[in-house]
Amino acid sequence: QPLITIKEIGRKYVIGSEVIHALKSVSLDINKGEFVALMGPSGSGKSTLMNILGCLDTPSSGTYILNGTNVSHMTDDALAEVRNQEIGFVFQTFNLLPRSTALDNVALPLIYAGTSKKDRQARAAKALENVNLGNRMDHKPNELSGGQRQRVAVARALINDPSIILADEPTGNLDTKTSIEIMGLLEEIHSKGNTIILVTHEEDIAQHAHRIVRMRDGLIENDYLNTDIKNVS
Ligand code: ADP
Ligand code: ADP
Repeated sequence: QPLITIKEIGRKYVIGSEVIHALKSVSLDINKGEFVALMGPSGSGKSTLMNILGCLDTPSSGTYILNGTNVSHMTDDALAEVRNQEIGFVFQTFNLLPRSTALDNVALPLIYAGTSKKDRQARAAKALENVNLGNRMDHKPNELSGGQRQRVAVARALINDPSIILADEPTGNLDTKTSIEIMGLLEEIHSKGNTIILVTHEEDIAQHAHRIVRMRDGLIENDYLNTDIKNVS
C-alpha cells in the first residue's frame, strides 16, 4: 500500500462569480522512501497540491489517503492532529521564530506532541547535531547564515519523525553553493528511508530527486523516474 494515494482530486476556489479550478483531476501514488520533485509553471497548482498533501487544506472532490487514513473530509482540528504527527515542513523563508534559539525552534513541534521539556531539549540537541549545528544551539536565527537557518528548519521538520517531509522551494533563498549543501542534506535524509516531496522551479535542484512530477493547468502533465540523479556526496 502506498504511503500516499491521491485519487482524482479537484480543488476549486470560488471568488465571487468566478470559479478557479486550481486542481482539475490529479491522481498520484507515492511510496514510502520516495524522493519526488514537483515542478511546473507558476499557477499550475503546485502550492494547492502541496497544501492538500500537507493537510493544510482538503480537496473539493476526490480522495486523499495518507498512511492508511482517509484525510479528504476531516475537520480542521483532526487535520491539524494528522499534520503534527505525519508531516514535516521546510519552507523557502525558513519560518523560524526570530526570538527563539535554534534549540527552541527545533524543539517547538514537540510541545504540541506533549513531550516533557527535558526530553524536548535532549531530542532537539541531537537533531541539531545531526545537521552539524551542535555548536550553534543557543544562536538565534539572525545569528546564523541562510544555510544554517535552513538546517535548523530541516532539523525541526524531522524532530517528530514524520512520515513525509514537504519542502517548498527550500533553496529559493540560498546561493548556489549553499543550495547544493542543503540538497546534500536532503539526500542524506532520504537515504535513511525518509519520504521527501520537494517543490522547485530549478531543474538542477529537481535533479537530486528520484522522481519528477510536472504539473500544468491543474493536471499532472508528466511523471517519470529520474535516471540522471546528481550525486553530490
Ligand atoms: P503554483 O503553486 O503552481 O504557482 P497555485 O496552486 O498557487 O499554483 O495556483 C493554482 C491556481 O489557483 C492559480 O490560478 C491561482 O491563481 C489559484 N489560486 C491559488 N490559491 C488561491 C486562493 N487561495 N484563492 C483563489 N485562487 C487561488
Ligand atoms: P523568548 O526569547 O523566550 O522567546 P520573547 O520575549 O522573545 O521570549 O518571546 C515571548 C513569547 O513570544 C514567547 O512565548 C515566544 O515563544 C514567543 N515568540 C517569540 N518570537 C515569536 C515570533 N516571531 N512569533 C511568534 N511567537 C514568538
